[in-house]
This record gives sequence, structure tokens and C-alpha cells, in this order.
Amino acid sequence: MTTSETKYETHEHDVLVIGAGGAGLRAAIEASAMGLSVGLVCKSLLGKAHTVMAEGGIAAALGNVEPRDNWKVHFRDTMKGGRYLNQWRMAQLHAMEAPDRVNELEQWGALFDRTNDGRILQRNFGGHKYPRLAHVGDRTGLEMIRTLQQHGIHTGMKVYMECTVTRLLGAGGRVGGAFGYWRENGRFVVFYAKAIVLATGGVGRCFKINSNSWECTGDGQSLAYLAGAELMDMEFMQFHPTGMVWPPSVRGTLITEGVRGEGGTLRNKDGKRFMFEYIPALYANETADKEEEADKWLKLSVQGKSEKGVRRTPDLLPRDIVARAIHSEVKAGRGSPHGGVFLDIATRRTADDIKRKLPAMYHQFKELGDVDITKDPMEVGPTAHYVMGGIRVDPETQESGVKGLYAAGECAAGMHGSNRLGGNSLSDLAVFGRIAGKYAGEHAKGATALKIEDDEIEAAAREALEPFNRERGENPFAVHEDLMNQMQKYVGIMRNADDLAQGLKEIGRLQETARNLRVEGNRHFNAGWHET
Ligand code: FAD
Repeated sequence: MTTSETKYETHEHDVLVIGAGGAGLRAAIEASAMGLSVGLVCKSLLGKAHTVMAEGGIAAALGNVEPRDNWKVHFRDTMKGGRYLNQWRMAQLHAMEAPDRVNELEQWGALFDRTNDGRILQRNFGGHKYPRLAHVGDRTGLEMIRTLQQHGIHTGMKVYMECTVTRLLGAGGRVGGAFGYWRENGRFVVFYAKAIVLATGGVGRCFKINSNSWECTGDGQSLAYLAGAELMDMEFMQFHPTGMVWPPSVRGTLITEGVRGEGGTLRNKDGKRFMFEYIPALYANETADKEEEADKWLKLSVQGKSEKGVRRTPDLLPRDIVARAIHSEVKAGRGSPHGGVFLDIATRRTADDIKRKLPAMYHQFKELGDVDITKDPMEVGPTAHYVMGGIRVDPETQESGVKGLYAAGECAAGMHGSNRLGGNSLSDLAVFGRIAGKYAGEHAKGATALKIEDDEIEAAAREALEPFNRERGENPFAVHEDLMNQMQKYVGIMRNADDLAQGLKEIGRLQETARNLRVEGNRHFNAGWHET
């Protein structure tokens, strides 16, 4: 029985996609193309999903710059970068299908940078043997979202913006709906669907220093877990080596790996190119161990060329290795004034090149840090960036352990092992977004609607309202801040048993505190309630 407080509106679809980043949009396009009724829900505005922030590019073995590239090399690089802990079949499907997905984006209107002979240009990135990242300057995510959105809205999908889902609904190991509320007025909404795709992105906002947007609070992972799905590899958090370290207000903001892909090099406070000291045995064969060879490679790279036998610069080793190296340099007292190291692009590229190839980086430093990167080096340090772990899915279909519940993109797990290579997320979104949409669609075609009991909806509504009913309680913003600090302190880039044990205690304490959150005011535009 609903009261006026717990009243809700309802919508019904064959497939409900939760999340409108690259993965969600691609899934929704696929399911719509099957002639199904598709709902797409997102907690921000359409076009504002975190994917829009992606900078450096989308990885696919198109072989446009280096004809020796092919899906097998991409597969090998991805497995090696993930320390062979990847779900191999996902890595294989990804490498095989990524070129088709990039070409499809182009057919749908994406304007990638071009080679001199008019093909899609590809740039170098860490851990990729050959130049492999199709890109649009350093604003690739914006172009991807623009393209998918423009294509998607013409397929007839219904978009629900600024609507947060707080619970999945279902029974007997099946999912059949989702409960949420409109952020604007706080009113409740229930979606009934035969299949649901979660595409809610990452968890970076649980760390103090992070590169993520406000949306990345692990909603999908927790929705799936509470609905009975399994999570895997949650300990695999990627710390990107190059976040801004100064000024404090923008600490963590990303500096794309594209800067090093375009010839940028790392130095410590003594001017030393320290990455030569950190080449692991696994990468020794393919990494230059002397400056002369690395410089030759960098020179070729700047010209968009590569040459057989010339090994890559260690500045472009996979992210986990570079991030740990920077951390070690700073710990050893060889860091920059604000606790990072230096990244220099001005030595190898002209001011015009930098402004053309890395326009967002140029403006970011000029406006936020008062640094002209065409003249001076940037100060950079690790920032929490991407979660490799997430919802366990079937590699062929992206279905989770709960019948009818699919996941794709950063909230799903397996593809990247213990460390993702740059550019492999945007291609992951396109490849597995499509697969999730296809199989969710097929499931919906053959399924009957699940009956959702009123009690379940009522319980979800009561749970959402509880923080208003407490006379005393904790401030949700303070709890989030506390969580970020504890994660940064105990579960950061270098971990040990003592810190993890202490971290676990602190998180346990916060788990208790979080049961007692309190918000004031009413349900209209209530930021404290959203945070809760
Ligand atoms: P997102 O784009 O995060 O979208 C999540 C969606 O879910 C949003 O629409 C959100 O509103 C919605 N949502 C979340 N929770 C709820 C809820 N409870 N209810 C309703 N809706 C909800 N990767 C690359 O491959 N190449 C790059 O160059 C690159 N550059 C990057 C640069 C930056 C600064 C950052 C931070 C990341 C970069 N990445 C890059 C990583 C990549 O951008 C992300 O991994 C990827 O965009 C995640 O996409 P997604 O579709 O999984 O989710």
C-alpha cells in the first residue's frame, strides 16, 4: 500500500539501460536496433556522463600508422598489461572487435584526427606496442559521446535524465525492475523491464585524490551486489601516473597519457629521467634502457612513425609501473616542490603542435595552474583513476549471475586484469556495450515480465526516506570525506598488511556510521539526500 510520501510513477520497457556513458549508450543503441522498447536512465544530463572527460583516445588495431599491428598484438599487449589476470576471452573479443567499433563510430559521424593520406590517425600510449589510439585531439570522449548520443536519440529510445536508481527489483535470482527518484523534485519512479543493463561507471570518488567525475560512486557495483550478483577483482584500482598536484583545489585532475604519447618525458627534481631505473624484466626486451635509443623512438613517435628494432621509451611503460616509479621518487625525496615529478612536453614539441594536439591540456594548465606547458614542465603525480574490478559477467554475453541483469563498461570486470592499458576503456565500452545490448535484447525477446511485489517497492521507498526521519544522525558529506581520506591513507598505491588491516577497521566503522545518516529539508534539489 503506498502512502502519499511513497507514491511513485511507473514506466515499462523491454530493456532498461542504467547509465548513459559510452557503454550505456552503445548498449541502448543495440537493443533499440532490435526493435525493442528501450529506456535509458542517467543521474546527470544526457551528454554529461563521465565518458565525456576521456581524453587520449580509443585503442583499436586498425594498423593505420603501423601496418604490423593486428588484433593478436593488441590482445597480447592487453593481457601482458593486466599481468595475465584478465578474463582472456573478453580481452580476445575486445581486441578482435575494437576496429569495427571505431569504424562504426566514424560511419556514425565521429571526426577523428587524420593521417596525411586521410585515414584515422593513431597515437602511442603506454603498454601498446604500436601507435594504436584513434583520437580527436585530447577530447576523444566528448566526440564519442556526441556521436553515440546523436545516433542513439534517433533510434526511439526513451531517455530519463537526472534520475538516480537506488535499488534493483526482482525475485528468485531474476531482475525485473529498478527503483529510483527524480533528482529535481525527489519523487519516486519505478521502471519495469525484462532485462536490465548496468553501465554506471567507476568508483574513483572513494579516494581523496582522483580524476573522476562526481558520478563515479560505484552505484552499479552496489546495486548488482545487493541484487545477488558477484563482484570480482575489486582490489584492482588503477592509479594513473599523471594527475595535477598543484594547486590543491585541482589535485588529481587528469593529464592525459597522450602527453607522453606525443613526446613528453618524466624527470625528477635533479632533472634525471628516472624511468630508466624502473624497467621490469617483463618489459626489458621491448623498452629502451638508454636515453639515446629512447630519444630515437620519441623522435620517430613525434613524426607519427615507428621503426623495427627501436625500443619504446620507458616513460610509456604501463600505468601501474610508472605510477609506482613516481611514488618511489617522491618518497625518496627526489620529487618536485608540490610532491610530484616533472613532465616536460615543451622540449620536443613546438608551441603550435602542443596547442593543436593537446588543446585541453594547454588550457587546463594555463587556467587552473597558471603554467604555460609550451614553455614550462608540468608537475604531476598519481591519481585514482579507474577500477578494473566490478560486476562478474559472462564473457560472451555480459550477463551477471542474476538472470536478466547485464553489465558493461567500467562497472563490469574481467577485461583488464590487474591493470588497464590507456585507450582500452573507450574500446571496452563500445565492444561490450554492444554485446550487452544485444544479449539483453535477446533475453527480453524471450522473457515474460516478472511480477514485482508492492512490498519490495514500498521497502525501497522507505529506505530512501529513512534519513529524513532521524532526529539525530551523521552528515553524509562528512562520512564521504572520511571514506575518501581512509581509502587514500590505507588502500592507496602502495599497500601492506598493516595498512590494509587498519583500513578495514576504518571502513567497518564507517559502515556503521553510514547506517545512521541524517538529512534536513525536503526532497526538492536536496544535495545532502543525493549524497546519502
Ligand atoms: P560513465 O561514462 O562513467 O557513465 C556512467 C553513467 O551512469 C552516467 O550516465 C551516470 O549518470 C550513470 N549513473 C551512475 N550511477 C547511476 C545511478 N545510480 N542511477 C542512474 N544513473 C547512474 N579511457 C580511454 O579508453 N581513453 C581515454 O582517453 C580516457 N581518458 C580519460 C580521462 C579522464 C579524465 C578520466 C577520468 C577517464 C578516462 N578514461 C579514458 C576512462 C574512461 O573515460 C571511463 O572508464 C569510461 O568513460 C567509463 O564509461 P562508462 O560508460 O562505463 O561509464
